[in-house]
Amino acid sequence: MRRLPRAPKILGVPIHPKTGLDLMKAARDIATRRFVPDEIRKERQDICNGCEHWNEASNRCMECGCQMQVKTALSSSRCPLRKWDNYVIDVIRE
Ligand code: SF4
Repeated sequence: MRRLPRAPKILGVPIHPKTGLDLMKAARDIATRRFVPDEIRKERQDICNGCEHWNEASNRCMECGCQMQVKTALSSSRCPLRKWDNYVIDVIRE
């Protein structure tokens, strides 16, 4: 699995150009309520629970610095190591 290049961290969050884009996508997901179904969120969290980069005490990914309760619920989120991917929500317009 391909790893992201090491970046300096502030409060555990790596700071590189992709961080800003990821935060914008997360904000958009929250604003437009693009949350994944519960079973997808649980599937993602189960993968994180078995990952060497997961910190149980804070439920935080030490690779990307994200709080997993939030990250696993957002449709645009993806694991930085590609252990799980984003979730495409089909919107049917009538
Ligand atoms: S997001 Fe990926 S790297 Fe981070 S804890 Fe979950 S599985 Fe591990």
